[in-house]
Amino acid sequence: MTRFAVIGSGPMGLRAATALIDAGHNVDVYERDDRIGGMSAHFDFNGLDIERYYHFVCRTDYPLFDLLKRYGLSDRLKWTNTKMGYFYRGKLYKWGSPLALLAFPHLSPIQKIRYALHVMHTKGIRDWSALDKEEAGAWIRKWIGDGAYEVMWRDSFRLKFFEYADNLSASWIGTRIKRIALSRESLFKESLGYLEGGSDLVLDALAGDIQARGGRILLAAPVQEVTTQDGKVTGILSARGWAAYDGVLSTSPIQYVPRMVPTLPEDYRRKIESIENIPVACVILKLRHAISDNFWMNISDSRIEIPGVIEYSNLNPLDGKQHILYAPFYMPKTHPKWKSTDQALIDEVVSYLPMLNSSFDPSWVMATSCHRYEFAQTICPPGFQGALPPMESPIAGFYMADTGYYYPEDRSISESLDVGRRLAEVALR
Ligand SMILES: Cc1cc2nc3c(=O)[nH]c(=O)nc-3n(C[C@H](O)[C@H](O)[C@H](O)COP(=O)(O)OP(=O)(O)OC[C@H]3O[C@@H](n4cnc5c(N)ncnc54)[C@H](O)[C@@H]3O)c2cc1C
Repeated sequence: MTRFAVIGSGPMGLRAATALIDAGHNVDVYERDDRIGGMSAHFDFNGLDIERYYHFVCRTDYPLFDLLKRYGLSDRLKWTNTKMGYFYRGKLYKWGSPLALLAFPHLSPIQKIRYALHVMHTKGIRDWSALDKEEAGAWIRKWIGDGAYEVMWRDSFRLKFFEYADNLSASWIGTRIKRIALSRESLFKESLGYLEGGSDLVLDALAGDIQARGGRILLAAPVQEVTTQDGKVTGILSARGWAAYDGVLSTSPIQYVPRMVPTLPEDYRRKIESIENIPVACVILKLRHAISDNFWMNISDSRIEIPGVIEYSNLNPLDGKQHILYAPFYMPKTHPKWKSTDQALIDEVVSYLPMLNSSFDPSWVMATSCHRYEFAQTICPPGFQGALPPMESPIAGFYMADTGYYYPEDRSISESLDVGRRLAEVALR
């Protein structure tokens, strides 16, 4: 039996820990935060237990479905026929169906056909390796033309990726299009899922399983150093002191790894440091009334500096009396707005609401909050596949992965579960 430490108690860390326990090993999970979950963690929003960041499930999230089955929780996954909207230059349009595309006045008939063909083509892609080398903007423009790109994509890229917007991998953007395009009940009906009880349903099942089989989850226990001797892991130094381990699996954002593992060889460290990641500040509002009947509203309007709003209660109806809206600000730390206070970001989002719904009144706001995650979104430029350092590091017994290892898939709990399982497999080899 080997003693393993897992760094991070997000879905990836917890899933890696259960896979190690399945193989008969001892596992301790170290978590910096005061709760499990990482980006999937919940908080108490004035009496409502909800995620800090919005979470929806797609029809292709198979690793999540497998896990729910393993713990007898499949019936807690619910599906809703959701609506999507596009707020373009001061007006809200329906979006996300062939009829909505036909009715949208800002694309010509030819542009609409090209747009639809691009989505249909992307839906069918199975091998993403050729697109790994292509730049996303150029790939999309080739399919739909410059004019349609301006209308449909430019602002969304600009407000999510800033200075990286013109250097993203086409396969990374393509898998996002495919994931949403395949999450449908029919051509006319988008169908997205949510977990009754939120992400905690999955996190608590994993944590309960780990603890029931002798594993430990150490909260408020940031790992300061992974100690090594002669190129081999010896243990972990954390706020709780030093403990000996034969193997360590890090699932924290890899940008933290060079500081945690000071003995990493220079070329591996340089590979890690070449990977960019941007933070998110996500505002969450509890409102008396919904702003719209959409789950997702993309926004392209020169007055509004967020790529969209997510009305979570249009996916998960909660109690019908409180309406939850999330508004993410993805921005590099160099962006002046990153220094804004949480209250300033909340005020900015509230100031946009009368534009999105002219009936909005500030008295609708029942509660507000804002959460930040320092390394929220790996940036995947063309050729990213070859840029990722291997999960097995040159230090014997030290393995790592993070949300960048889903590539070319986008961030999701489901992908984290899969990468967590794969990371444990690499460590067990
Ligand atoms: C705004 C937003 C929207 C999202 N929307 C969706 C969605 O709709 N659907 C979906 O499925 N997914 C969504 N996601 C993504 C999903 O939340 C993540 O993919 C998933 O939670 C990642 O889990 P993880 O375990 O891989 O990593 P993380 O959540 O990053 O977990 C890493 C953990 O490591 C811990 N850690 C870091 N350093 C240390 C240290 N030194 N010592 C100990 N612990 C440490 C962190 O505290 C954290 O708990 C969204 C994420 C965001 C931010």
